[in-house]
Amino acid sequence: KAKKEGPGKVVVFAQQMHAEALTRLTLTSELQRALEHDEFHLQYQPLIRLADGTTAGVEALVRWRRPDGRYVPPADFVPMAEENGLIIDIGRWVLRAAGEQAARWRRTMPDLKLNINVSGRQLTDSSFAADVQRMLAGTGLPPTAVTLELTESVVMSDPDTAIACLTDLKALGVGLAVDDFGTGYSSLSYLQRLPVDELKIDRAFIAHAEPTVEDLAVIRAVVGLARALRLRTVIEGIETESQLVAMRRLGCDFGQGFHLRRPADPELLLTAAAA
Ligand code: C2E
Ligand code: MG
Ligand code: MG
Ligand code: MG
Repeated sequence: KAKKEGPGKVVVFAQQMHAEALTRLTLTSELQRALEHDEFHLQYQPLIRLADGTTAGVEALVRWRRPDGRYVPPADFVPMAEENGLIIDIGRWVLRAAGEQAARWRRTMPDLKLNINVSGRQLTDSSFAADVQRMLAGTGLPPTAVTLELTESVVMSDPDTAIACLTDLKALGVGLAVDDFGTGYSSLSYLQRLPVDELKIDRAFIAHAEPTVEDLAVIRAVVGLARALRLRTVIEGIETESQLVAMRRLGCDFGQGFHLRRPADPELLLTAAAA
């Protein structure tokens, strides 16, 4: 193919490859530095009970602030960290930091739950279950206070391995959630086999500010499925009052979204949640 397009194309392609490799290399060393120099911190977004508007828990979301003050969104570095394996160390840090914060909150809000995002690399890492156990022991959090979120694509890409890992985690007593449900190639038969407790319905399902009849029909079906499998439902990405009202009516258990609460630094979240 390179031959047909002429030698010039090959050079351009090689240069592009070089640039990509360089970016990878740079990002890898920057992520390493970020870990060593505490450039990560966590924000938290409440999960709201739709029935009464109260805060049921929070999801920890990792943030990377570079020394120049620039924020890099997780979507821009988590995939690379998964590729180069640094997500293991980053994830271990997240687990610890989020666990400690949740334990502090629970002194005044004893029922507050904590959701933590876990990548595929972490899930299959042989020390992950021990890391979770160590976090629980170190913070005193009861396992039932913690839910680990795994994206649907992670779970479905190798369901048998995922089920084995999830079963080990489940044995610790923690909750398990399927994150971004509906974006992967969901196999409903596997969903039934997964030892999960919670289904987080991806925000793609409520794309319209004013939910359409079709939007509602699809979400109603997903909520019905979840209920049949005895899973809690969380709908992500509630951005408008119409969406909130519609999701409450559909009987979805929890909601998350900018219209309810934006992700915030822990100091801000505590005062607002108590109010
Ligand atoms: P996610 O787990 O599905 O997290 C929800 C994302 O949706 C967050 O983006 C949140 O800020 C955003 N969001 C919440 N409400 C709304 C809304 O109403 N509208 C819109 N447009 N967005 C909303 P964020 O923080 O950028 O995180 C993106 C993804 O990065 C997460 O998706 C998760 O997959 C990953 N991630 C975040 N923190 C961690 C972590 O500690 N570990 C791992 N492995 N992945 C993480
Ligand atoms: Mg999540
Ligand atoms: Mg999600
Ligand atoms: Mg999502």
